[in-house]
Amino acid sequence: MTKIFPALSIPETLAAGPGPGNTDARVLAAFARAGTADHMQADVLRGMIECKEMLRTLFGTANIHTFGVGGTGFSGLDCMLSAILPGDKVVVFVNGTFSGIDGLTVRMKAATREELAANPLDPQAASATIVAVPHGQSVTEAVVEQALAQHKPKWALMAHWETGSGRVNDLQGFSDACRRHGVLGLVDAVSSLGIADFSIDDYPGVHGWASCPQKGVLCLPLTYAPVSFSDRYIAEVRANGAATYVHHPVLEARHWGVIDGKDVPTPAYHRTHSGYAVAAFHEALRLTLEHGRAQKARDYAFHESALRWAVEEMGCTVTSNMTSLVVLNLPPALAGREKELVQKCRADGFGIWPTLSEPVQVRIGILNQLGEAQITDIVTRFADALIALGGAVDKGAVLDGLARRYRTALAAE
Ligand SMILES: *Cc1c(COP(=O)(O)O)cnc(C)c1O
Repeated sequence: MTKIFPALSIPETLAAGPGPGNTDARVLAAFARAGTADHMQADVLRGMIECKEMLRTLFGTANIHTFGVGGTGFSGLDCMLSAILPGDKVVVFVNGTFSGIDGLTVRMKAATREELAANPLDPQAASATIVAVPHGQSVTEAVVEQALAQHKPKWALMAHWETGSGRVNDLQGFSDACRRHGVLGLVDAVSSLGIADFSIDDYPGVHGWASCPQKGVLCLPLTYAPVSFSDRYIAEVRANGAATYVHHPVLEARHWGVIDGKDVPTPAYHRTHSGYAVAAFHEALRLTLEHGRAQKARDYAFHESALRWAVEEMGCTVTSNMTSLVVLNLPPALAGREKELVQKCRADGFGIWPTLSEPVQVRIGILNQLGEAQITDIVTRFADALIALGGAVDKGAVLDGLARRYRTALAAE
């Protein structure tokens, strides 16, 4: 029997979690107004080349191999990690859910055939070392230094911002330690690109970077995961290969007009790109660069501190230090009811999240919510949810205090 469902309708909700953020209307409009054109049409290709150049500006890099990998953040990470081959020595620093998954990816790639067969979904590769840093703490230079000195790996991997626990890790310390030990550093920049103000060329110990289309670069009409690779990384791939066609760091770059290590005006087919996706991604990059990397970073820091202040006023304890997200413990009287609270909020179209690994905490994000009205809306909804759970919250006082903070900040400008 053929089953045809009614047309799918998805409600408008407020994505106020660690990601994805609400995609900007300008990006959605660019997606919808793109004409029908195939993946080799001249303007689609020009758009991809312009995206490549804007990505170099956003990353702050002269790396030729800078482009977008079709898919989500993990697609870009898969491309970057495809240079890791069975038996390669790797150290991965794990301080939350996402670096934990990155560690799993690395163990899958570094595993020998026997190790993979012994535990196909969770292989224990002898050549891969996972250095666990407790949830709620950052990866420090001392931890990286110690592990690299002890294990002397070929590769090391760290998340720049670990979204699972909301912690900023020491990028400078990681890069410096990789340089001292001649290690090829790789960074998961999924959560920091487009939010933090940094130039990857300032971190010469890091040779591969991977980000995503749904957090700092807000382009969820599923588009591209930005990646950037140093010449040293590409030389490694050229010498030893990568066991993938679709995510191959050298082959995928061809469609973005990078061939034989050079920018070329005529890209070569790698896979069938969507003109709609290219148009949306192009607009998302234009938006980010128009805002300005430094200004955007300041705006995130400013609004995160307002949200942090408000949730602390409500009796919560914040354990994160990212600027796009607060990760918090509920007031003691509500401890243990995190999932109940989050479920209730999500059912009401207020998309916040619990942590995905222990301990259970609440995560509230501000991606693309950079304004007093937006933060006030988030604070109001969160206060209402705490009150509905029986929390003792003086919502009026919190909202008055928040308005005062914004007025004082405006007056100081
Ligand atoms: C969100 C996130 C990912 C996964 O990104 P997807 O777009 O869901 O594939 C990986 N790493 C970090 C640090 C993240 O924050």
